[in-house]
Amino acid sequence: MTLLLVSHPSCALHETGPGHPERRRRHKAVARALEADLGVPVERVEAPAVDREAILRVHAKEHVAQVYSAAPERGLARLDPDTFMGPHSLEAAEHAAGGAVHAVDRVVDGSASQAFCNVRPPGHHAERNRVMGFCLFNNVAVAAAHALDHHGLSRVAIVDFDVHHGNGTEDIFRDDDRVLFCSSFQHPLYPNSGADTKSFHIKNVPLPAGTDGAAWRPAVAEAWFDTLAEWRPEMLFFSAGFDAHLEDPLANLALVEDDYTWITSEVRRVTDAHTGGRVVSMLEGGYNLDALGRSAYAHVRALGEPPSA
Ligand SMILES: [Zn+2]
Repeated sequence: MTLLLVSHPSCALHETGPGHPERRRRHKAVARALEADLGVPVERVEAPAVDREAILRVHAKEHVAQVYSAAPERGLARLDPDTFMGPHSLEAAEHAAGGAVHAVDRVVDGSASQAFCNVRPPGHHAERNRVMGFCLFNNVAVAAAHALDHHGLSRVAIVDFDVHHGNGTEDIFRDDDRVLFCSSFQHPLYPNSGADTKSFHIKNVPLPAGTDGAAWRPAVAEAWFDTLAEWRPEMLFFSAGFDAHLEDPLANLALVEDDYTWITSEVRRVTDAHTGGRVVSMLEGGYNLDALGRSAYAHVRALGEPPSA
């Protein structure tokens, strides 16, 4: 059993401008934390660049054209109030999404059991036709669509525990009931969506500011676990954002590292029998560098555990 860690040097070069929380140092903070013993054999690979076809499964042609044409040769381009591209950003985005595709290929062909992609820019706010909230291409959506359309899987689940609603992922899969999407998030908070969603395959859990692990755990367990088990997903994806951490500066939930171990293990416990332990996890948010590193380590360590069923 090999745990695959996917990344690319360009992910450390994607520039967002002075004072921006989604900054270059996040990449190294996670990479450094994952140098510690993860308890299982680890293979580290450089993410290939994505094929345009894989992005076009989840994004409109106009969206892809906008990202490619906005990429600056020097300086910064501003695509929305929070979303910037520098000279290395397009390369980073191509390798972030390409890492997602590669991780799926390796987990489906059995040469890796689980995979974590330490990539940026993050993805879960990017909608089918809109860059948004630091996100250019929706990496986890690219991964899930590749598993479904290229590898022929019929049902997958995406669990998004970032502190912000995964509006982009919801937008992309709103009418695709091959995907069970589970998102917990502080509400109200950017992007202020998701609290009213009614769909049998989208399970949102809005939470008030101040929610800690003792309250978050039963809330997501009740909303998600029976549905996840009944869904019988053939593969599991995480949108792994760590900005619900107590020490995170962008939001006001109060999770700690042990909560990330818990959600990773518990979601696997209810899905491993169906997925065979096939999991791909994509880094999303997390803006306190120290808490980000510790939390990513807790999540990835639990990711590499052998299947529970
Ligand atoms: Zn976030």
